[in-house]
Amino acid sequence: MFAHWTVRMLREELQLLQEPGSYVGEIVKVMGKNKVLVKVHPEGKYVVDIDKNIDITKITPSTRVALRNDSYVLHLILPSKVDPLVNLMKVEKVPDSTYDMIGGLDQQIKEIKEVIELPIKHPELFESLGIAQPKGVLLYGPPGTGKTLLARAVAHHTDCTFIRVSGSELVQKYIGEGSRMVRELFVMAREHAPSIIFMDEIDSIGSARMESGSGNGDSEVQRTMLELLNQLDGFEASNKIKVLMATNRIDILDQALLRPGRIDRKIEFPNPNEESRLDILKIHSRRMNLMRGIDLKKIAEKMNGASGAELKAVCTEAGMFALRERRVHVTQEDFEMAVAKVMKKETEKNMSLRKLWK
Ligand code: ATP
Repeated sequence: MFAHWTVRMLREELQLLQEPGSYVGEIVKVMGKNKVLVKVHPEGKYVVDIDKNIDITKITPSTRVALRNDSYVLHLILPSKVDPLVNLMKVEKVPDSTYDMIGGLDQQIKEIKEVIELPIKHPELFESLGIAQPKGVLLYGPPGTGKTLLARAVAHHTDCTFIRVSGSELVQKYIGEGSRMVRELFVMAREHAPSIIFMDEIDSIGSARMESGSGNGDSEVQRTMLELLNQLDGFEASNKIKVLMATNRIDILDQALLRPGRIDRKIEFPNPNEESRLDILKIHSRRMNLMRGIDLKKIAEKMNGASGAELKAVCTEAGMFALRERRVHVTQEDFEMAVAKVMKKETEKNMSLRKLWK
């Protein structure tokens, strides 16, 4: 079944690839019922016909369009130019994560409900008390502890659009455009409100300003950061946009981000304790076919210091062990082997890190 799907997808892709390419142009002017003046870079301007399935009322100056490469007939209206940015930002119209997919973190869920969910659902409470709504929160803690998961769950429970952007991509992929991206990000959030902006790895833009003279790259990062502060100061907390930021490195974060009136709340995400570890194991093995009498508590005990992501990995690995032996049930032994495998990787990683620091 799988192969069948793949073949079909590849065939469709091949067909698309074999289609002759189109020219991309920009509308200069509509010239009557079915002719438009189009500027095609670098060639020049052309008056072209419009394919009959195109609605001419949708065409306005500076719309981007595609022209057939032989006849120059306008056959497609392209999304507006802002869209390349959308690549960077992952927009989810209400994500599918929910609070009950989160193990442990009860306190964190409670706090985030108070800061994000309450103001979105009941802004009138804040108004009648005469206090300003929080604009956002910083989520911090080691990798894989559920920061992204909780952010998506909040968006789900508040029916918010979830706009996700990674701080490091923002400064690395779009060199020179970081600050424009930040502006666009907030424009987009406004268009999709109510929305939650989730900025991951915020330390890559918002790390404490480096000492001067460390090159141009950094001043670009600083400009991005200044724009971010600017946007945070500029938007009204009451207009249904909330900003969540996440980092593993709160120690190097610029305090300017955390000033009152910006992101003035912090929630810590530690690695789970034994009880939460058991919870997380249960959540991720919920749909697995477990042998009766399996003792997940024993597994949780063994995984001291593991993150949520590692606990999830153990469940997947255990399943893989069963699969390799063509068994339909996952056994205690599968889990034990999975722990050994996942935790071994972890110690190796720590070892190499330790070597690095020496
Ligand atoms: P990073 O700092 O690396 O971005 P993060 O804290 O955002 O990490 P997530 O992406 O939320 O981590 O977690 C990774 C995966 O681990 C999630 O998809 C989720 O399935 C699992 N996970 C982590 N924490 C928990 C938890 N408390 N309960 C259930 N699953 C968890």
